[in-house]
Amino acid sequence: MKIYHVCEYCQQVYSTTEVEGPEGAIQLNGTCEDCALELGMNETFTNIGQHFYN
Ligand SMILES: [Zn+2]
Repeated sequence: MKIYHVCEYCQQVYSTTEVEGPEGAIQLNGTCEDCALELGMNETFTNIGQHFYN
């Protein structure tokens, strides 16, 4: 079966994992790397309103 890791912020499947078991798929909510970064940055820059250039 497949596990779909879906980002609860942007609703994108950011990772899939194949595991032993019956046919099918399940969905797990999580946070993708992009959103984790953005969230981290938001915390830092919330009151500054600065844009982060990569
Ligand atoms: Zn995301």
